[in-house]
Amino acid sequence: MIVENEKIPFDINAIRAEFPVLKQKIYGKDLIYFDNGATSQKPQVVLDAINKYYSQENSNIHRGVHHLSQVATSHYEEARTIIQKYINAPLQEEVLFNSGTTAGINMVAFCFGELLTEGDEIVISAMEHHSNIVPWQMLCERKKCILKVIPMTKKGELEMDVFDNLLSNKTKLVAVSHISNSLGTINPIEEIIEKAHDIGAKVLIDGAQSIQHMKVDVQALDCDFYAFSGHKVFGPTGVGVLYGKKEILDSMPPYQGGGDMISKVTFEKTTYNTLPHKFEAGTPHIAGGICLGTAIEYLSKLDIDAIQKHEYELAQYAEQELLNIDGLRIIGTAKNKTSVVSFVIEGIHPFDIGTLLDKQGIAVRTGHHCTQPVMSFFEIPGTIRASFAFYNTKNEIDIFIKAVNRSLEMLR
Ligand SMILES: *Cc1c(COP(=O)(O)O)cnc(C)c1O
Repeated sequence: MIVENEKIPFDINAIRAEFPVLKQKIYGKDLIYFDNGATSQKPQVVLDAINKYYSQENSNIHRGVHHLSQVATSHYEEARTIIQKYINAPLQEEVLFNSGTTAGINMVAFCFGELLTEGDEIVISAMEHHSNIVPWQMLCERKKCILKVIPMTKKGELEMDVFDNLLSNKTKLVAVSHISNSLGTINPIEEIIEKAHDIGAKVLIDGAQSIQHMKVDVQALDCDFYAFSGHKVFGPTGVGVLYGKKEILDSMPPYQGGGDMISKVTFEKTTYNTLPHKFEAGTPHIAGGICLGTAIEYLSKLDIDAIQKHEYELAQYAEQELLNIDGLRIIGTAKNKTSVVSFVIEGIHPFDIGTLLDKQGIAVRTGHHCTQPVMSFFEIPGTIRASFAFYNTKNEIDIFIKAVNRSLEMLR
């Protein structure tokens, strides 16, 4: 039995044993999964929870008087509480379930966007994922607002002095990623939040790449919104969370209309439900929410500082070994970065390397990683990206380096 706050010591073999997918062979080779930035693998507890939900608890929530509905409802709400505690949100109702980071950002862009007027400004950064660019462009078109972009340096670090100049009393929201999915840069979000608040703007943090790698405390950060995806934090796809401060969520109009988000409906007038239900119209991904709770509970029992250190060492080691390869260039060399190593090799298309690595059982991602402006900035078509999770090992990196070299022998 695990006593609360007692962490399981970081034991890589024990951890790997929890992830059945890692035991597979791909083309006769041990799978090396270095595509964690795209999605993470799932531990046995999460797989068991999915099975248990559908085999013993399946029911709709928040409406049935019968036993199963009450069980499902209480497990769904318990998951919300687990997540609330994990990110240290003050209130349970500030944790909104949705389908993922994309859904969370779009919801804020629409609903917070409804409070904006012509000429108001939104600030994003040069290294955002498309899902933290396009919703703001759509909002700007709809409400005649203006989108400003914090530029970055060739190292992939935000130009913070330019940020200072972008802020004005017209700035209503700053939306930035905590960690860049294509460069691995850890952005100085504490400073961004403080400066934005100084001029009265709200801040949304795209946490899709941070919650699985480091401790996130939304109260310590004082961010106004924090969005993340279940599937990148060892939970199911199709479920995610948006944290928002209650007073701001209360001030925003609802997103979608439908069941669960209402208090009373007549044909003359409908009144809306309280938080979190106001923003959760319709039957949600019940199994997803419950099992995301299981994933976060699993993560909360691990030592996140040890995880962060392990992943940092993996990324450092991978970079050091990759740099021995002729013509190889690391894209994203920020001082403060983690878990992602993006690179290009002179004269070689990333896709060709990715394909040859796959044949050797190694999963990496190649392409623009949903950050086309980042690729344009570096004047490259895309990168080869190895992104690590805590279940990856140094030994896997050694095999990966040999495989990159072997692939180059074939291509050169
Ligand atoms: C993956 C990712 C997203 C989008 O997440 P979805 O799960 O596809 O909604 C947004 N931002 C960053 C930084 C990401 O890595």
